[in-house]
This record gives sequence, C-alpha cells and structure tokens, in this order.
Amino acid sequence: MPTVTIDGIKVEVEKNATILEAAQKAGVWIPTLCYHEAVSRSGACRLCMVELEGGDQKQLVTSCNYPVRHDLVVSTTSEQAVKARCGVMELLLARAPESEELKELAERMGVLQTSFPTVTESQRNCILCGLCIRVCEEVIGQSAIGFAGRGVDKAVAGPFRQPAEDCIGCGACAAICPVGTIRIRLHEEEQEIEISPFKSRNKLIVCEECGAMIISAQVSEQALRKIESIFAEFPHRLRLCPQCRKKQTAKKLEESKVFHKKVTVS
Ligand code: SF4
Repeated sequence: MPTVTIDGIKVEVEKNATILEAAQKAGVWIPTLCYHEAVSRSGACRLCMVELEGGDQKQLVTSCNYPVRHDLVVSTTSEQAVKARCGVMELLLARAPESEELKELAERMGVLQTSFPTVTESQRNCILCGLCIRVCEEVIGQSAIGFAGRGVDKAVAGPFRQPAEDCIGCGACAAICPVGTIRIRLHEEEQEIEISPFKSRNKLIVCEECGAMIISAQVSEQALRKIESIFAEFPHRLRLCPQCRKKQTAKKLEESKVFHKKVTVS
C-alpha cells in the first residue's frame, strides 16, 4: 500500500485513495465545499488544494480527487497552498457574500473579507460547485438540473433555464448545497413544494390522519414503487406524518400487548 506523508504525518492508504482521504486518516483538516462522499468528486471549487512535494518539482493539486498511486509527500500548510486556498475563498466570498455557511468556513481558514467585487444580483450566492447537479443525477436519478450558460452567465438551472420539469421535489439538492442557496419553499394554500431557484413546483401529499403536509406526491410514488411489494402496510404509513406514524406504532404495540395477554391467559 502507498504511503502519504502529510504535514509530517505518515499514513498508509489503499491504492487510488485520494489525498483528502489520506488527510482524514491522518487527522489533518483540509477545507472542502464541492466534496461529498455520496457523489463523484470533481474538484470544482478548488478549495481543497494542497502542495505535492518531492524533488525540485512542487505542484498544487486538488486533494479531493487526486489519486494516490505511489508514495507522496504533501503539505497543507506551505505558503503556496495556504495562499491558493485563501485566494479561492476570497473569490467564493465574492460570489456568495450572504452565505453564513461560507462565512463560517472562511473564518475558520482565517479569511475575514474579500478583495474582489461581489457579483451581480442574478449570479449571487451560487458558487457553481455542482454538488446539486451531481446528487440529482447520481443519487436521485432525475438529472432535473444542470449548468446553463458560460462565463459570467453560468448558472445552475432547469433545461433552457425554465422550471425544472423532471424535479420531483425531493429536496436532496437543498440538503447538500454547501452555501445554503437552494431552498425548499412551501406554498401552503396550493399544497405545493417549490425548489428555489429552480422554480419547480410539486404537489404535496397530506397526512391521512391530521392533514399536515408531508412529502411531494412524486417522491411518495417513487418510494411506493420500490417498497410496496416488501411491506404491505407501507403505502398507508407513507401517507402519515412522522408524528401520526409514531402514534400508530405505539397504538399497534399496545394492541399486540393486550392480544398477547389474552392469549397467555386463555
Ligand atoms: S429537489 Fe428536484 S432538482 Fe433537487 S435533487 Fe430533487 S429532483 Fe433534483
């Protein structure tokens, strides 16, 4: 197995593990934004840059997708690596100046402000890391959103920048967005869920017991298709909110205890 010496700490890793994984094993922190273990790695945000050492040649690489094929010596604290990461963070802060998540990470890196002008309103608050696109395609299997436009016009959007029709309103993109830009909005009167900024709207199903809105009808249908054959009760349980589901489970448990008592006595 190859070894990675990272900031002086030596660890062994599987061949083709990434430098980031080696750092995690060594307990060395490297900031990341576009990395998530659930999806493929892209190195898009460049925030995880480290310096490869060895011989005369030094090289900056993105640690989240750099495979370890042989022994490596890596520095996360070299002047070049720190300068590169802080420069990237300043650019990101200019793109998403209102993101509390980003400001928190910047502070941890020692970056307190940006020297770059903030981008225009229409481009604001998306850092174009593409995590939402990857989770939608690779985990949810919908490919409802993608990159549109180029250069300063580049954005994540539905096809032709229209409402994302293939969106099922699962909310995975909002959950994974590292800067909190993608939001789930509830339209109570219409009983619909909207994924902002993709302008997709989906009907919500309401709890059969208490009428609370739960999940999008399309997510429910997909789950049913997968699980119906295994649990006969699942279709009904999926139409209950978590609280009513809990109550129903407790009631059933109580009923089974009473039944058990009756059988034991007789
Ligand atoms: S909410 Fe829509 S766009 Fe977001 S991951 Fe789910 S299907 Fe894709």
